[in-house]
Amino acid sequence: MTDTGTTFTVETDRRTQVVDITERVAAALPEDATGTATVFVRHTTVGVTVNEAESRLLSDFESFLESAVADEGWQHDQLDGNADSHLRALLCGPSETVPVTDGRLDLGTWQSVLVVECDGPQSRTVEIRV
Ligand code: ZN
Repeated sequence: MTDTGTTFTVETDRRTQVVDITERVAAALPEDATGTATVFVRHTTVGVTVNEAESRLLSDFESFLESAVADEGWQHDQLDGNADSHLRALLCGPSETVPVTDGRLDLGTWQSVLVVECDGPQSRTVEIRV
C-alpha cells in the first residue's frame, strides 16, 4: 500500500445493488496496520455503508432505497436523468471509517462493509486508506 491508498474495482449489474466488499477491504489492509481505514468512493451515485450483509436484508436495502426516493420529477433529470441515483447515494454518503487492529477490520459480529450502487450497471472504484 502506498501513501495514496489502494483501490479495487466493483462491477455492478443492476441499477440499485448493495454489494458486500468486506473481504476485499480486509485484503487491502497492510498486515501490521492499526488505526482506521477509510473506505471511499469517488462517485456521486454510489454510497458506502456498514450494516448486516444477510442476503434478504441486502434485497430489503435495495427495495427501501428505490421506494424512499421517487424515480422521476427532479430538476437534475433535465440534465442527465439520474437525480434519483444521486439522492439515493446521498442517504449513504461516500465513505465509512472502520477501526483496524493488527491488519484486521475491527467490525462487530454482524457488520459488513457495503457498497451501495444507485446508478448501475457500472464499474466502480473503491479506495482504501489506512
Ligand atoms: Zn447526474
